[in-house]
Amino acid sequence: MNINKNTIPPIDVNARINWEKEQNTYKEMTRQMAKPELSVVIPVYNEEDNIELLYEKLLLALTACGRTWEVIFIDDGSSDSSFEELQKLVNLDHRAKVVKFVKNFGQTAALAAGIDHARGQVIIPMDADLQNDPEDIQRLLDKMDEGYDVVSGWRKDRKDAFASRLLPSWIANKIISIISQVPLHDYGCSLKAYRREVIKDVRLYGEMHRFVPIYATWLGAKVAEIPVNHHARQYGQSKYGISRTFKVVLDLMTVKFMSTYFTKPIYVFGSFGMGSLGIACLAFVWMVVLKFGYHTSFIETPLPVLIAMFLSLGFQFILMGLLAEILMRTYHESQGKRIYAVSKRLNTLAPEEEI
Ligand code: UDP
Ligand code: MG
Repeated sequence: MNINKNTIPPIDVNARINWEKEQNTYKEMTRQMAKPELSVVIPVYNEEDNIELLYEKLLLALTACGRTWEVIFIDDGSSDSSFEELQKLVNLDHRAKVVKFVKNFGQTAALAAGIDHARGQVIIPMDADLQNDPEDIQRLLDKMDEGYDVVSGWRKDRKDAFASRLLPSWIANKIISIISQVPLHDYGCSLKAYRREVIKDVRLYGEMHRFVPIYATWLGAKVAEIPVNHHARQYGQSKYGISRTFKVVLDLMTVKFMSTYFTKPIYVFGSFGMGSLGIACLAFVWMVVLKFGYHTSFIETPLPVLIAMFLSLGFQFILMGLLAEILMRTYHESQGKRIYAVSKRLNTLAPEEEI
């Protein structure tokens, strides 16, 4: 498109009308390009047959939303023709963007890259396989307009295999909601909507993208959940099996540990250490009582072995806690991380903005 970026309006009336039209188109384009309202983030791994149909549906749904938008596809090292399909979209529509990975880094990494590249005020991750329904985006946004910072999708009527997916996922969701104290039904649903501020600084590891609503709640964000559609996968295959459930539970333990004790790891390790030393002391006392009260020799009981074991375990734990403390401090101090999160500042700047 030939766009007139000239800022001096022509004098001739017709030329002037054309000029204004072009200026408006230009302004609209730059506005859209500069900061769209929505960024849809879609990890793609070998989804060649889904991309075109997905984009058609997205186009319809997003146009109906009436907001400015961009769609960021992350080609996570696909070995099929997914990238060529994405290239076609980019050639047709400047609102489609593609980030191509050199190899397969996994869905979480793809999502993280999408979030890093997103410029929208609201960031909406979803899957590329059409299991999520683009039409639900509007409903997520409506809910968000009620004053929420995160709106999470709930695949109430989920179309996946029962034994390998639904059951483990149900159990994992229950455990996660008990441990995290954030009562959602479906953490694993990719389709969610986040306000930019709550997700921009979150660093994702492992399977942790599903815990972002939990992080957000811990940091004071308002989180809601609404039922969304879920369709059976028509093209391509699922990239996951049951092993993901275990990864999720391990990640949850990490998240819980990080959130509760990250700034004071010695409290966790130290407690275990003290507990072990305590048991060793009790065993010692019991051994002495047996020896002098009941004339039982030390070596007739397993107590000396237990004492030795718990003593060394206790010291190990405490030393590990001290190591973790050093690591934690290095982490915070080397990256300039703070141990608090501020929601607003009145009449004062953030310390890093200070001149
Ligand atoms: N995906 C990805 N990298 C991977 C695995 C999956 O980008 O290593 C993408 C995949 O293309 C899809 C989404 O993540 O868009 C969810 O994957 P899938 O549908 O296989 O998961 P399921 O719905 O079976 O849980
Ligand atoms: Mg899927």
